[in-house]
Amino acid sequence: MFGSASKAFFHLLAQSRILKKLATRFAMRSPKSFVHRFVPGETVEDAIGAARALEALGLTETFDHLGESVSTLPEAVAATTDYLDVVRAIMESGVERNISLKLTQLGLDVDRASAVDHLRKILELAEPAGFFVRIDMESSRYTAVTIDIFETLWQQGYRQIGVVLQSDLYRSEEDLRRINTLGARIRLVKGAYREPKSVAYQKKADVDAAYARMMKTLITDGHYPAIATHDPVMIDLARRWASERGVTPDRFEFQMLYGIRRDLQGMLVEAGYRVRVYIPFGRDWFPYFMRRLGEHPANVAFVLRGIVGEYR
Ligand SMILES: Cc1cc2nc3c(=O)[nH]c(=O)nc-3n(C[C@H](O)[C@H](O)[C@H](O)COP(=O)(O)OP(=O)(O)OC[C@H]3O[C@@H](n4cnc5c(N)ncnc54)[C@H](O)[C@@H]3O)c2cc1C
Repeated sequence: MFGSASKAFFHLLAQSRILKKLATRFAMRSPKSFVHRFVPGETVEDAIGAARALEALGLTETFDHLGESVSTLPEAVAATTDYLDVVRAIMESGVERNISLKLTQLGLDVDRASAVDHLRKILELAEPAGFFVRIDMESSRYTAVTIDIFETLWQQGYRQIGVVLQSDLYRSEEDLRRINTLGARIRLVKGAYREPKSVAYQKKADVDAAYARMMKTLITDGHYPAIATHDPVMIDLARRWASERGVTPDRFEFQMLYGIRRDLQGMLVEAGYRVRVYIPFGRDWFPYFMRRLGEHPANVAFVLRGIVGEYR
């Protein structure tokens, strides 16, 4: 995890409309663009192409049609229609049926009931077709409402859905205990957002310690949990913890982001573990991309080298 000051800086840049406009117009234009390292393209065909390449290497995937913080109802309706098209395209392609989405993309900031209706619409198409639908977790402003919506849908009988918990939030260990008793699938992450100390650990060591505790609980008592991290220390710990307790590698999966630690992804597959890669795609790639830069200083150098290379 990069320092919290840099996280804050890149989150600020991510909100810049001018930068976003420029980046969206120019940065993806070449097939060799530096953005492609983290986002395979703007169309669902680009994403499916990336998925096929991953599947050929023994990996699986989840698709994220990028978009968040939609501020009007028509935009939320359009994002939902787009997602329904993505689901249909994945069905036709024959690649694995697994998607991730954000509630603010479906209109949570506009009107909660509409966002839930939109999610239900997607579930009505996706569930019977064998999709798994993961609700991504956004900043702490949305934690309670996201979990509440997830639990309501679970109570209504939707079973092919899962949620994400962030180890940097104090509340997450309690959330884990409650959600785990439902029998639901949890993706465990460290947390990508800059959070205040009133709600979240500020030191990396504390976030990591909470991650380790939650990961151990999930591996022994979870329901096909997803250990989503690129951290070799956490991955080693998960492997050791599982093997010492006789938890076989088919009872959980590792998850990583597209383009990040591809070496580790391949090594885990070779060692017999399941690895799912999160494939983000779409025109609205800028905020996602900026979060990845804020996490890891080497990515900034990678991007700068890419820019110099492309515009030389
Ligand atoms: C599949 C998946 C889904 C996710 N979904 C969510 C979500 O719904 N909500 C949410 O808040 N967060 C989500 N995240 C992001 C997560 O919260 C972290 O911000 C991110 O994974 C970085 O933390 P880390 O666990 O990899 O460990 P860190 O301690 O941050 O990093 C450990 C090592 O991983 C490598 N690494 C980490 N990040 C990068 C990077 N950007 N580029 C290159 N190398 C890197 C480096 O080698 C680094 O030393 C998701 C992550 C994954 C893998």
